[in-house]
Amino acid sequence: MPAFPPRQLAKALAGLHPELFIVGPEDLEGRHPGEHPDNFKGGVMAQPATAAAAAALVAWCGEHGVAIVPQGGLTGLVGGNVSRPGEVILSSARLNRIIAIHADEMTVEVEAGVTLAALQQAIAAHGLMTGIDLGSRGSATIGGMVSTNAGGILAFRNGVMRHRVLGLEAVLPSGAVLSDLTRVVKVSAGPDLKHLPIGGEGAFGFVTKVVLKLDIQRPAKATAFIGVADAAAALAVIGHFRSLAGITLEAAEMMWPRYIRDHAALKGFDLSWLEDGAAALLIEVSAETVEAATAALEQGLESLWEPTGLQGGLIAQSLDQARKFWDLREDSGFYYANLPGAPSFDIAVPPTFLDAYVAGLSARLHAVGPGYDAYVYGHIADGNLHLTVIRPGPVREEELRAIEAAIYTGIAQAGGSFSAEHGVGLEKRHAYLTFGNPVKQALARTLKQAIDPNGIFNPAKVPF
Ligand SMILES: Cc1cc2nc3c(=O)[nH]c(=O)nc-3n(C[C@H](O)[C@H](O)[C@H](O)COP(=O)(O)OP(=O)(O)OC[C@H]3O[C@@H](n4cnc5c(N)ncnc54)[C@H](O)[C@@H]3O)c2cc1C
Repeated sequence: MPAFPPRQLAKALAGLHPELFIVGPEDLEGRHPGEHPDNFKGGVMAQPATAAAAAALVAWCGEHGVAIVPQGGLTGLVGGNVSRPGEVILSSARLNRIIAIHADEMTVEVEAGVTLAALQQAIAAHGLMTGIDLGSRGSATIGGMVSTNAGGILAFRNGVMRHRVLGLEAVLPSGAVLSDLTRVVKVSAGPDLKHLPIGGEGAFGFVTKVVLKLDIQRPAKATAFIGVADAAAALAVIGHFRSLAGITLEAAEMMWPRYIRDHAALKGFDLSWLEDGAAALLIEVSAETVEAATAALEQGLESLWEPTGLQGGLIAQSLDQARKFWDLREDSGFYYANLPGAPSFDIAVPPTFLDAYVAGLSARLHAVGPGYDAYVYGHIADGNLHLTVIRPGPVREEELRAIEAAIYTGIAQAGGSFSAEHGVGLEKRHAYLTFGNPVKQALARTLKQAIDPNGIFNPAKVPF
């Protein structure tokens, strides 16, 4: 029995601060819980409209020993938002203001609950872009992206969220507000502690505001869908377009054969131009004009055709066609209709190790059981693969451990990571303990104990 059952907790929190809105169990019922069905199990949601209101809630929870689960857009894929009765959901839903766009210095100050799409739209009017982009842009919030250290499509060129954050404000577990809203790239003034909540998955406090570095928008783009034999061929294509003067490589996403065949069949997308057994590489470049970008793609692919053994290709003739290419990559959850709960993973290896990894993975999965295979796709230019085992879940614990061993074996030794951009949450706890670095884990535990000695922030997720 939780110390405060949800109804009682909602009552206790009501009136705590004039800028704190409390949503009780009745009002949460029926709301879409996002990517995990148990996100709203806590039953009580606090929505502060200011950092001061969030601080009042955190201080109260500290005094009463009530755990807090921070939530943003609920698009997280590892169960980092799951809440239990007796815990308070601390939502950034009302922290939704874009405070200031400093167009001349290419920075923006934004509250944590602003969605990526809303920010993208607001800064586009200034010819600027975020320099980071995710398929979940419509719902993912800046605070959630900070807390998961999100990566996405542009990370190979612009880095991940950690590299985009200049300043940050967060309510710490003590209830104190850490306000470090610097707007400069260079800060060499002792340890840069704003990096603790970045990728901290809500365990080090509640992010309320962020200053982000922005980039110039390059809207004149051309998109191609190309057949490649393997990652080595794809990397040769990527290398070519990265080295062209006047051209920017905007995106490079790869879909291995089984993924692209099954997804195209489902969408009715004609793949007759793609040779059997080929993988698909989606590539986007920008230039001064759309014509220049298209010409660069045409000439580049022609010159690469023989040396890299390309296995078919299409250049989008319209924005609509480009969108259809992107849908094949971004609607990546297509398999869940037939494979509900299929085990899925998000790993990174150095890009030149991708072919060896994928070949080894097939062999290791076949050893787990006959017919075992995975859908493989991802952000190839930075070596980040998403993998879904072609098997409906939930799988038995023993089988899951064998699958995890097949997926994670060799990654750390190759210089990669068992979790690339989705985090640890609930679902990668075993991987964190088994495939993570024990010295790093001990250091993380020390920091967590120092900052949150009573463990009130997002307990039972990252196993400190
Ligand atoms: C279709 C789809 C495509 C995706 N593509 C990508 C991709 O390309 N790259 C990528 O990196 N991810 C991707 N994701 C995963 C997800 O969108 C990211 O993890 C995103 O950063 C989560 O943001 P959110 O606002 O939804 O956070 P939530 O899901 O609400 O929360 C995620 C975690 O952050 C914590 N948190 C949230 N807000 C705060 C806050 N204000 N303060 C402290 N902690 C907080 C939560 O406790 C939780 O642990 C994708 C997801 C989907 C559904």
